[in-house]
Amino acid sequence: MRLGIEITGRCNAACLHCSSACGPTVRDRLSTGEILAVMDQASELNTGQLEFALTGGEPFLDRRRLRELIAHGTSLGAIVSCVSNGFWASSMPRALDVLAPLKTAGLQMIGISTSRFHRQYVEAVRVELAIAAASQLGIRTMLKIAITKSDRYLPPEPPIARAEAMADVVEHFAVIGHGRDPSAIDESEWITSETIPVGRCPSAAANIAEDGRYMACCSSGPASPAFAFGNIGDTPLRECARRLSASALHRQLRSHGPASFLPAIIQAGLSEKLRPAYHDVCDLCTHLLSDPQMVAVSKQQAETFAVPP
Ligand code: SF4
Ligand code: SF4
Repeated sequence: MRLGIEITGRCNAACLHCSSACGPTVRDRLSTGEILAVMDQASELNTGQLEFALTGGEPFLDRRRLRELIAHGTSLGAIVSCVSNGFWASSMPRALDVLAPLKTAGLQMIGISTSRFHRQYVEAVRVELAIAAASQLGIRTMLKIAITKSDRYLPPEPPIARAEAMADVVEHFAVIGHGRDPSAIDESEWITSETIPVGRCPSAAANIAEDGRYMACCSSGPASPAFAFGNIGDTPLRECARRLSASALHRQLRSHGPASFLPAIIQAGLSEKLRPAYHDVCDLCTHLLSDPQMVAVSKQQAETFAVPP
C-alpha cells in the first residue's frame, strides 16, 4: 500500500501555479497525533510493502515533526519519502545538517520541486544544493520540475541543469489549471495534446489531504467531492478505503480511464462543457469531475456498466 499524506498546507512560498490551499498564512489542520494514527491504521490494513509519501505545503517548515513522522513510518516497516522546495539549502554544510537527522530517522527518498514560479521564493542554487546534499547522504533524489508551454523552449538555469544531472530521477510535469490566481497563467500556456487522452487512471496511491480528506489520488486538481471518500478526523482509514474501492466511478476510471465517460457526456448534451484539448488523463479526469453535471452523468454511466470490485 502506498499512501500520500499532505502533512501541512503551510508553505514559505505562494507559487502562482499552486493552489491557495498552500501558503504562508495556512495553518496546520492535522495534528501530529492524527497523522501518526493514520500511519498505524495503514500499517494494520497493509498486506504488501507499505509506503508513505509525506508532502505539503512545505514539510520542512517543522523539521522536528517531519523527523518524528519519518521515524514512525520507518518503525512500521514503510518506505518513507518526502517532498520539499529546498528553501533550507542555503549552503552545503547547512543542507547536510538539515538532512542528516532525517536520513537517520529512515528517509529513503526526497523530491525537490521547482519551476519558474518557485523562483521568487527559492533560488535555483538551493535546489542544486538540496539534491547534492541528499545524494551525498545516500538519500535517493527526484527533481520535480513544473513547466508551461514557453518553458519548453528555454534552457534550464545552470544550477537546475546541474541538479538534473545529479538527481536519480527527473520528472517534468505540466502546469494545468489557473493556480491560485485565475489571471496569472493563461490557458494558452498549458501544454495540451491534439488528441483525447485515452489511458487508464494511473493512480498508485490514495492521498490524505492537508485537512484530513481521504482522496482517490494526489493529483493537484481534485478539490471536487467526487474524489473524496471521508475524512480521517472522523472516519477510520479502513472505511475510507472501502468507500473508494466500492465507487463504480473510480473503478471505471481505473479500468477504462476518464475518456470512457465522454460518449455519455456528449449524448447528455454536455459537449460544450468539454475543452478542445487536454494535457493528459488526469487533466481530463479533473476537468470532468469538477463539473457537477458531468459528474452526475459519469456516475450514472459507471453504475449502469459497473465493473466488479
Ligand atoms: S508549489 Fe510547493 S513550494 Fe510552491 S506554494 Fe505550492 S507547496 Fe509551496
Ligand atoms: S485519472 Fe483521475 S483519479 Fe486517476 S490519478 Fe488522474 S486525476 Fe486522479
